Amino acid sequence: MPSRADPEPGPLVVAGAGAAGIAAAIAAARLGRQVWLVEARKRIGGTVTHTLIHTLGGLFDSTGRLLNHGLPAELVERLKNADPATRPRPIGRVWVLDTDPHVYQQVVHAWLAELPAITVVHSSRIAGVHLQDGRLTELDLATPHGARAIHPSTVIDATGTAEVARRVNHALVRDPVALPAGGFIIRLRGAVPDCLRFPRGLDLVRQLRQAAAQGDLPPECATVWLDTGLKADEIYIKWAVPLPTDWRDTGVQADLHHRADQTRDQLVRFLQTMPAFAHSHGAEAGTLGIRDGGRIVGDYTLTEQDIRAGRRFPAATARCCWPIELWSPAGDVTLDYLPPDSWYEIPPAALKVRGIANLWAAGKCLSADARAQASARVVGSCWAMGEAAATAAAS
Ligand SMILES: Cc1cc2nc3c(=O)[nH]c(=O)nc-3n(C[C@H](O)[C@H](O)[C@H](O)COP(=O)(O)OP(=O)(O)OC[C@H]3O[C@@H](n4cnc5c(N)ncnc54)[C@H](O)[C@@H]3O)c2cc1C
Repeated sequence: MPSRADPEPGPLVVAGAGAAGIAAAIAAARLGRQVWLVEARKRIGGTVTHTLIHTLGGLFDSTGRLLNHGLPAELVERLKNADPATRPRPIGRVWVLDTDPHVYQQVVHAWLAELPAITVVHSSRIAGVHLQDGRLTELDLATPHGARAIHPSTVIDATGTAEVARRVNHALVRDPVALPAGGFIIRLRGAVPDCLRFPRGLDLVRQLRQAAAQGDLPPECATVWLDTGLKADEIYIKWAVPLPTDWRDTGVQADLHHRADQTRDQLVRFLQTMPAFAHSHGAEAGTLGIRDGGRIVGDYTLTEQDIRAGRRFPAATARCCWPIELWSPAGDVTLDYLPPDSWYEIPPAALKVRGIANLWAAGKCLSADARAQASARVVGSCWAMGEAAATAAAS
């Protein structure tokens, strides 16, 4: 925690240092604002670094060209410079950037450190808010050293689950009616190179799912998916978990993580009986990933119709073309593609919290219906939204 007094006039406060929050902080600092980037966890990076996302979506159009200029494009450059193995890859009808989540963490950490106007406040969460005349005048921070108040000029809620808006007024948040399954990802080293090459990878997924159906692996392994990493001997294993409605409770999350540890151990043991994984080791587990933990009620709500129509909006700068990636509560996924070569825009009004003059949002908690959010939440779009929200908020 910085010991100096809050800068005057109040800083622009970004709550949450995930994709959207980091982009918002960088954009605001480059516009000359003093920024406090407040992150609940010890480390920055949000879902990408903690859940272990290695395929960044939303950065490219359906032909593999960059979809957004500005910070998302700069991110791609910085990631490639940091690790030459970073590369765009087509998966079906979309393109992703294959990345190492740890390299991503180092890159964004170094990027923030270049900007003296940004103060990163780790291990601290926005725990309370105070309003006056429709403006946020004070935020209560719960820090490892106790409570602390800050007086923001502007606030950007990039918590992914609309935590600031939620504290202002629960009516400013739309929680999903059917909670999409959460997800866990592990990374494994020591696999035989090319062991997932078509059709071997599909066969393997089938075997694992069959083992789950027969009770030889935990039931959630019925949703298991495997993917290659950047290193020849590296694979990522993902599975979905149904979320109870009280998933926010820390005890409930601890139970989900405990169960995920057991699933990881069983999966690794099972894989190690196969020649391709006999020498696999170093299983690293990500934390529980939440796909839709609540969206703000904004001045505008982005809809499925907007995104299917490739709608453009005045002053919009964030583009997206990811399919509607719908996860059922049980963990089944469908990809509903937008028309080929099309993209839609996310308007600044979908990043402005309704009725609170200095409160904005960015990232997966944008103002959108559930199906529009299921497209717009990918990492590249979150970067574009963070930049757009900061630009609109700082102007
Ligand atoms: C299992 C899973 C797999 C996915 N796979 C992919 C993929 O392959 N490709 C892709 O592009 N996208 C993927 N996504 C989606 C994508 O990763 C997320 O939607 C995106 O990263 C969200 O970014 P964000 O900045 O909005 O939120 P987050 O990255 O969640 O960041 C929010 C941050 O806010 C912090 N925070 C929360 N509350 C507070 C508080 N009160 N005070 C301060 N800080 C707080 C959190 O600790 C966190 O660091 C996946 C999502 C999941 C769950």
